[in-house]
Amino acid sequence: MLFNLKTHTPLWTGGVLKTCDRVHETSIIGSFRWWYEAIARGLGHHSCDIIKNPCPEIKKDGNKEKRQWCDVCEIFGATGKHRIFKLIVKGDGKAVYNQKNAKDLINIKPKGRNTGWYLGAGRYSTEDKPIRIEIHNLDYNDVRLSAALFSALTLVDRWTAIGARTQHGFGVVEITDRNGKKIRFKDIDTLTTGKNNVRNLPNIKDFFFAKIQLIPKDENWKKQIDGFSNKKTKNLLSQRLKNMPKSVPSAPAVKNWLRYTLFADLKISNTNFGSISDGSIFGQIKPKSNKQAAKISVSDAYKKNDHWEFRIWGWIPDDDSVLPKKTRTIFLKNLKGALNSCPPELKDALGGCETKLTHWREFDSDRDTIGKESEINQFIRSLLY
Ligand SMILES: [Zn+2]
Repeated sequence: MLFNLKTHTPLWTGGVLKTCDRVHETSIIGSFRWWYEAIARGLGHHSCDIIKNPCPEIKKDGNKEKRQWCDVCEIFGATGKHRIFKLIVKGDGKAVYNQKNAKDLINIKPKGRNTGWYLGAGRYSTEDKPIRIEIHNLDYNDVRLSAALFSALTLVDRWTAIGARTQHGFGVVEITDRNGKKIRFKDIDTLTTGKNNVRNLPNIKDFFFAKIQLIPKDENWKKQIDGFSNKKTKNLLSQRLKNMPKSVPSAPAVKNWLRYTLFADLKISNTNFGSISDGSIFGQIKPKSNKQAAKISVSDAYKKNDHWEFRIWGWIPDDDSVLPKKTRTIFLKNLKGALNSCPPELKDALGGCETKLTHWREFDSDRDTIGKESEINQFIRSLLY
């Protein structure tokens, strides 16, 4: 099966030299797996904790030891188990600027930040330099692959992003088939359900997915995004904007607003949020013993058809061992409310653009803009319309 990845925002897949010299298979497979894990857990299937407690599970059977793999490792592989498919990158696109080495980065430093964000040159697709992936099922009798493949890729296409550094705005792609048709998960009924209900690891039941439309006030808005004024890397930013005029690296400005204005309270204990650190939601690198990945991703702004939009999605665990329940509710309510009302600080961060929340999806929630859906299969079906 061949898929075209038409980039709305640059795709980042890392590389040994820390530049994205080409599209790396491992990163695409990694993110494909990550999304399928969340879907599989939502459907009640067993998906191991690949970092802390990976498969296989060793079971004693009399004197013999039996190894068992979870539903996701059965497809994606693990120690002692081959992946049931092969993924080949058939086109690498182009770099959004000519990145010479790991330090040759665009620095975006919104107001009030000492260092800001550093962005490398991701890759973009063009008519003559497309980005394509080809996936081969190694066992033609195995129907599990197409369920995993189409559920994860359709979710990426409709709501999220693929590759690495998606929390920095990279990786929003439109995925089409060999004939350029939008991918559809036709056999959605083949998704089976299980009886697990794990909520302390990413589970689609505990995500939200939002789309926000941008309404620019004039042509100059692209230059007025908060943090674009760094003179040293201005040239690289101009190259990127010139090569990919329908994508603007606005994610740092929005993340800065989220963390330091809208949710500034999260840093202070004994507020409405209880005594949790903002790092548990927005990520932290120090101390090393308590390094945490960001649970929220914000995409860069991109122009689709005739309007500009960006995406925000995240995993806000519904599990007291990860995040207090009360915090979860307040966080989601405040986030949706702010995106809906376009506060002046957000407008300012986005170069004067008005914003309009067009979609908010969340399982079993009154906040969902389509309507509350408490049945997980139906919810997934409506997400992957
Ligand atoms: Zn596993």
